[in-house]
Formats: sequence, C-alpha cells, structure tokens
Amino acid sequence: MNNLPQHSPLGGSGAYRWIPCPGSVTLSHGVEEDESEYAALGTTAHIVGEHCLKKDLDAWEWIGGLIDNYSDTPDIRVNKEMADAVQVYLNGVRSAHPNRNQSNFFIEKRFHRPDLHKYFYGQSDVAYVDMEARQLDIWDLKYGVGIIVEVARNPQGMYYACGILEELDLWDDIDKVVIHIAQPRGFHFDGPLREWEISVDDLAEWLHDTLLPAMDKALVSCDTQSGEHCRFCPARGRACPQILKDFDELEIMINEIDEKGSAAKLTNAQVGRFMDLLDVAKIVGAAATKTAFARLSAGKKIPGRKLIKARSNREFKPDTEDAAKAKFGNRAYTEIKLKSPAQIDEMPEGKTFTARYAFKPDKGLTVGKASSTRPAVDTSNKSLFKPQKGKK
Ligand code: SF4
Repeated sequence: MNNLPQHSPLGGSGAYRWIPCPGSVTLSHGVEEDESEYAALGTTAHIVGEHCLKKDLDAWEWIGGLIDNYSDTPDIRVNKEMADAVQVYLNGVRSAHPNRNQSNFFIEKRFHRPDLHKYFYGQSDVAYVDMEARQLDIWDLKYGVGIIVEVARNPQGMYYACGILEELDLWDDIDKVVIHIAQPRGFHFDGPLREWEISVDDLAEWLHDTLLPAMDKALVSCDTQSGEHCRFCPARGRACPQILKDFDELEIMINEIDEKGSAAKLTNAQVGRFMDLLDVAKIVGAAATKTAFARLSAGKKIPGRKLIKARSNREFKPDTEDAAKAKFGNRAYTEIKLKSPAQIDEMPEGKTFTARYAFKPDKGLTVGKASSTRPAVDTSNKSLFKPQKGKK
C-alpha cells in the first residue's frame, strides 16, 4: 500500500466521472493539474477534522494554526470560517456515534483490495462499525461550497463502504450501511448533514454489477460521455473528443435556431439537449478562463482579454470601530437581526424551534435537471372537482 500513488486512478472520488465516462481515465492520464486553492482548503479542513477526532479537540482550538496541506500550495492558516465548518462535521460524527472507541471507530482508514481490483484503494474520512445493530456508517466531509453533493447513491460513499467492508471482512456481519455527507458551507434543502441508507445486499450487487465492471472498462475503453461530471475532469481542457463532438452538435443546433428564427420553435427534446450542451460549454468555458488567467498573469497576450482588478466591496480599516462609535454613536451599528433558520438549527433545541416556526416560502417554479433530487412538479391541468353525473 505504501508503494501506491496517493490517489488511485480509479479512486472513489473520481467514480462519479469514470463510471459514466470510462474514456476519461485514459484521456486524463499524464495531465498535470495544479492543486487549486479550493482543493488545498479542502485538504486543510480534512486535516483539522482528522486531528480533532483523534485528539478529542474542537475545531476552534486550531484557529490561527498553520497547516501543511501536502501540496505545492502554500500552507493555510485555519480561520474561523474553516473552524466553524469543521465543527459542524465533528458535531455530526460525535452525536451520531457517542459510543465510539478505538475498536469500532476508524479515522482516515486506508484500504486496498487488489483481490477486487488492483486500483481499488482509498481512504475513508470516518467509518463506524456497530456490530450489535449490524450497521456500518461512512462519513465524508465536503468543504466545497460551489458544487452541492447529493448523498443518495453517492458513488464515492458506496465505493468507500465496499472498501471498508472488504478490508475489515465485515460483509457477513453487517446488514446495512449509512452514508453521511457533511457539507457545512454549501446550502442544501436537507441541511449540511445528509445521510442515506443502503442494504449490504444492494451494495454488494452494485459492487459486482456496476463498480467492478466500470473499473475494468475504464482501464481499456475510449468511450466518452459528457455531462456534469466533466467539471473536474483533467481532460476537459485537452481537446476531449466528446467535447469537440458536443460543440459540433451545439453549432448545428444554433444554425437550426437561426433558420427557424427562434429557439421557441425547437422540439422539447431539442430544448433539453440544447441545455445539456450549454452546461458542457460552460464547464469548458470555465477551464478556458482558468488557462487565460494563468497566461495573462505570466505576461502573455490573449486577444480580447486583459487582467483587471476583481470586484470587491469597501471594508473598514481595523481601527475604525472606535472612531465610528465616537462619531455616530449607536447609529454606527446595524439593528440586531434574527438569525436564519439554519443558524437557529445549530443552537441547543434550535431544531425543535425551527420545526414550529420556520417555513419555506413558495417562490414559484424553476427549471431543474432531471437528476435533481427535488420532486418534479406536475403542471397538467387536472380538475380539482369530480364531475357530477346528471348535473350541468
Ligand atoms: S471532459 Fe467529459 S467527456 Fe471528456 S473525457 Fe472528461 S468526463 Fe469524459
């Protein structure tokens, strides 16, 4: 295990991509991506979470600490925002597993199961085994804020669950697995701590019918399929043949709109496809923007683009408060404002309070992806009244 690269080319974190797009593994081979600042922040948050769980500390105790995130990115100093986020994860783990001890609680547990597949390895943030309840819990901390991660059928969580069950030889002792996602900084309708349960039988079926065949295929196949999973694919900026095909298709559709005179004349199927292609184009556009930024920063010329100051809001200098108080008194302060339902949830008995007083205002309808976990709204005009026989 020590001789293996840190991240498996077929690791759990990329399973959301290489299961639908097996060719992405070959196409990404050899692409060196600089670790982004966001990834380094995520690594740092994981290190803080790991040490807090191992040493029974709270995250605030790390505020101000400088953490080596094992990359070329400069060390990151833990601030209050990171400590608050990690604490949500710690609270979730600790309250779900009050009986954790050294024999049933695993922090950053590594596994390697070459008997399943030579690249079947990884590291689970937290695994908790309850032999009495015949249950395994797998926790995954997501520090990101931009991409909201769904827990239901989350391939990374399912991959790690299989790895831990195999590593600890627990397949016959466990009946169900609960996968937890802790994403404290990203808004989700179900809150920052989300969980999903799967029976061990269903998980074993997924392992043998979906995951292992996908791992075999990803090593040899050039088949590609674009989608949301392109967002972090190293090949997205490397003339991926699928993306080139998508752009050709997009061009044809734009020409068709031009001929018909309006996008409103496309069929429903065409509108859906057009929106999928636009999503892919946005992902490629983001990769191109990143490249342009790096080249402009290095003094190169990109036609039609230049470096400009990023927008920012005015802030007060550190010693302003006393001067503002002296000058404006209490008028220098904003009114005390009620916390949001999510913030009240974090307080003792907060959830009981919000269950009674919080509600979601109806903001009307919007277009979502078919894969969204939010249920589709039926807009067919069914009468609310039953027809009454013999009456007009
Ligand atoms: S960019 Fe998208 S379509 Fe191309 S290889 Fe990567 S995941 Fe597949």
